[in-house]
Amino acid sequence: MQAEIIAVGTELLLGEILDTNSQYLAQQLTGLGIDLFFVTHVGDNMGRLSETVQRALNRSDVVIMTGGLGPTEDDLTREAIAAALGETMTVRPELEEVLRGWYGKRNRPMPQMNIKQATLIPSASAIDNPIGTAPGWFVETNGKKIACMPGVPHEMKKMWEEQVAPRLGMGGGGVLVTRTLKTVGIGESNVAEVVQDLIHNPNPTLATYAKQDGVHLRIAAKAETRDAANSMIADFEAKVRALTNHWIYGIDDETLAAAIGKLLVKQGLKVATMESASGGLLGSYFTDTPGASEWYAGGTIAYTAKLKVLAGVPQEIVDTHGTIAGETALAMATAARQQTGADAGLGIVGVAGPSEVEGKSVGTFHIALDFLGQTRVVDSHWSTTRLELKRRAVMDALYILWRALEDREEAATAVAGAGGAGRA
Ligand code: ATP
Ligand code: MG
Repeated sequence: MQAEIIAVGTELLLGEILDTNSQYLAQQLTGLGIDLFFVTHVGDNMGRLSETVQRALNRSDVVIMTGGLGPTEDDLTREAIAAALGETMTVRPELEEVLRGWYGKRNRPMPQMNIKQATLIPSASAIDNPIGTAPGWFVETNGKKIACMPGVPHEMKKMWEEQVAPRLGMGGGGVLVTRTLKTVGIGESNVAEVVQDLIHNPNPTLATYAKQDGVHLRIAAKAETRDAANSMIADFEAKVRALTNHWIYGIDDETLAAAIGKLLVKQGLKVATMESASGGLLGSYFTDTPGASEWYAGGTIAYTAKLKVLAGVPQEIVDTHGTIAGETALAMATAARQQTGADAGLGIVGVAGPSEVEGKSVGTFHIALDFLGQTRVVDSHWSTTRLELKRRAVMDALYILWRALEDREEAATAVAGAGGAGRA
């Protein structure tokens, strides 16, 4: 089955709104295993709209449309479909009753122009819209289907989930299930090299994506049923993990901060932060995670040298090394630990721009970890925007802590394993 999406609205072409409806629908179609080959934006213009519908019907099995179902003159989706199919729209009494009922319940008279929301063409049936006035249209003609939904995103999603997807899913060519394994601390080409024997597997497929939070390994399995696809994924995931487990911190929506939280809870530890150039972004990432109070002991934004000293950084460290230095970042990490009684401390200093500081160029960052007295400092330099510099520094901080926690976890497992073998 081949699908295409038509998003209707001049607002889209003027760049006034972003077409999040198509993004959502594209993700949904992927999940159903339906191929999507075209997405079109078209304005509220009768000629261009009906021409677009005609073209879509010629090349696709399923056409999914959003927008243009409202009551006004520029809402032309119904008219365009009727014109493309050469059919006539008529008012349906049963739909008119629902529409009038909607206004009646709110004690408002129905504007006469709304009557077109109660129309159908012979090859269309109405799709109920419990949260708005405009019903959708589900058109079946010559083996092709058109599903029209309102433009308002939450109305569209509800209609899609409850009514349109089930109708399309019935004729479906199986399901596609995906699972994303998220890695950190290894580059995309290195990951690709490590998994090269699996990357050409036909089903499940494996693909690598370099993302802001590390390299993702996406496994996608196509099967008749969801259960069958899930078990194919499980088998294949084991093979991928055998090669990459050292770098995997989570799956699908799991964040690196949440993975850290899990490990900290497991090991009975807490982390504290002291940030300068990253301005609290690290603390923000930690506190984005539900339950962070169990393992995040808090943090300081020590943006000036004076504040760093007030927060526990020895004055002589700042005097000797300046603020943009690995020594200072480490002293901040240690101070964060000491001030809060946490087991791990993270410190970040750097030059986010626009001009150099203490002779250090824009993009210079020092990220430090004090983990139970073991220390690590990462010196980085990137050429990018201010916000991206902050984000990368925070990712590095998350990474060094996660690595330390993982290594501790692995060491504990190895000791337990060796102990067991020794006794046997
Ligand atoms: P209405 O009855 O509200 O007129 P409609 O079905 O005619 O609904 P539109 O008029 O095209 O839909 O869009 C209504 C609103 O929904 C737009 O102003 C916009 O905020 C949002 N919207 C429309 N299309 C999209 C889209 N493709 N992506 C995201 N938002 C959209
Ligand atoms: Mg409208």
